[in-house]
Order: sequence, then structure tokens, then C-alpha cells
Amino acid sequence: MSKKVAVVTGGTRGIGASISKALLADGYLVAATYHGNDAAAEAFKAETGASVFKFDVADYAACTAGVAAIEKELGPVSVLVNNAGITKDCMLHKMEPDAWHVVMETNLTSCFNMCRAIVTGMRERNFGRVINISSINGQKGQLGQTNYAAAKAGIIGFSKALALESAAKGITVNAICPGYIATEMTGNMRQEVLDSIIRTIPVARMGKPEEIADIVAFLASEKAAFITGATITANGGQYMA
Ligand code: NDP
Repeated sequence: MSKKVAVVTGGTRGIGASISKALLADGYLVAATYHGNDAAAEAFKAETGASVFKFDVADYAACTAGVAAIEKELGPVSVLVNNAGITKDCMLHKMEPDAWHVVMETNLTSCFNMCRAIVTGMRERNFGRVINISSINGQKGQLGQTNYAAAKAGIIGFSKALALESAAKGITVNAICPGYIATEMTGNMRQEVLDSIIRTIPVARMGKPEEIADIVAFLASEKAAFITGATITANGGQYMA
């Protein structure tokens, strides 16, 4: 049987790179997408042998063309992991419209852009797995993150609605809400901020990217066929939704 194809947006670094590696280990052909960091993408490709594709997930036309290029090279997509995301933290009373729009478009509109390009084919083939990476801060809010919290909360509603639309076609759609995970995104935070966050996590540590990747690998598998429209939290007990 030919290998299934999985697309992981933002799949060359951080949590996304761990997700790509977990899916490669499970026998998928993986297309890891990225936006601007060519060096990280080339290093990831050399390390893993995964295919990498560069396009902006916030750009509808770029996603359409990017998915077409992936399917031409690797074949029809069975698993889509919408993982690419950014933060532009700022208190609302100081936030410029650009910081609102780029965070909404990169984290949330990207899910529409990628699903719009991929779900039609999944419906035709009566199989698909869509896994959207939300955040603990989309569940509980966070100061300085009205943009990010709104986008990540939006992913949860988006996932539930698409799950309803897709269930009869063998496609599951789920959201994962990671807590604080040690990646470059959180590595850019000041140590005293990180220490104060860790004090609020019952397991007393940050999560590892692999701990999110393992959830994705399970949701992608045949074993997870009965899980759809779910919001799965993995946050060390920091917030119990
Ligand atoms: P990183 O900053 O380490 O990596 C982000 C990835 O997304 C990179 O591959 C980056 O590409 C890609 N990306 C960013 N913007 C775009 C874009 N416009 N188009 C295409 N690709 C893009 O992030 P993390 O691994 O920390 O986070 C991954 C996901 O998990 C995000 O959605 C984040 O919001 C979420 N999350 C993270 C948490 C954490 O604690 N780290 C906690 C909860 C949720 P490039 O390499 O080219 O820049």
C-alpha cells in the first residue's frame, strides 16, 4: 500500500518539527511547510528527509498553490495539521491593527485557507484527519493576547463546525490546546516570566514538543476514528477546561 501523505504547517521548527517527525516515524510521507526561515527548513530536511514547502499560510492563493505543489509531488493529502502560528503580544489599548490582523490571519484564517484547499479531496476519498493546534490561552485568555486568544478560541469553534460538516465523509476534525511548551516561541520570553508561569503549572515544568506530537500521531491514526469535534488539552494541569 502506498504511504499516506501528511501536511504539517510550520512543520520545520518547534512543535511542528516534532509533529512531522512523529508522523514520519508512523510511515507517512510528510510535507512540512514554513514561511521564512530557510536555514531551519534546510536543516530539518537534511535531518529527516521530509519534503519542505515554503508559503505563507495567511495567504489564500499561496495555500491553494502550495497544496497543489504538495499533491503533485507526494500525492493526495490524508492528514492536515494546522500548526503554524505566531504571537504579537500587546495590551489592547496599545495594539495596532496590524498586530491584530496578522495574528488572526496566521493562526485562524490559515486553518480556513488550508482546509479549503484540502478538505474537498478528503471528502471525495471518504477519509481525512484534520488536527488544528489551538492553545491554552484560547481557552482561558491571557493578558497581552487579545489577538492570539481570539484566534486560538476561534480555532476551537472552527474545528467543531468542520467536524459536523465532515463526519459523514470519514473525516475527523479536532483541536489540541497545548499549555506552555519549550520551543523558540516560549524561549523568547524573559526567564522571570517563564519562572512565574512554571509556578502555576501543577506538574512544575513546561511541556515537551514530543508530548504534543504524540497526541497528533494518535488523532491521525485509524484508532482515533471515533474522536471528532474534540478539544484536547495538554497543559500539565495548568487549566482544566
Ligand atoms: P515556532 O515559533 O517554534 O514555529 C512556528 C512555525 O510556524 C515555524 O515553522 C514558522 O515558519 C511557521 N510559520 C509562522 N508563520 C507562518 C506563516 N505565515 N506561514 C507559514 N508558516 C508560518 O512555534 P511553536 O512550535 O512554539 O508553536 C507551534 C504552534 O503551537 C503555534 O500555532 C502556537 O501558537 C501553538 N502553541 C505553542 C505553544 C508553546 O508554548 N510553544 C503553546 C500553545 C500553543 P518559519 O520557520 O519559516 O518561521
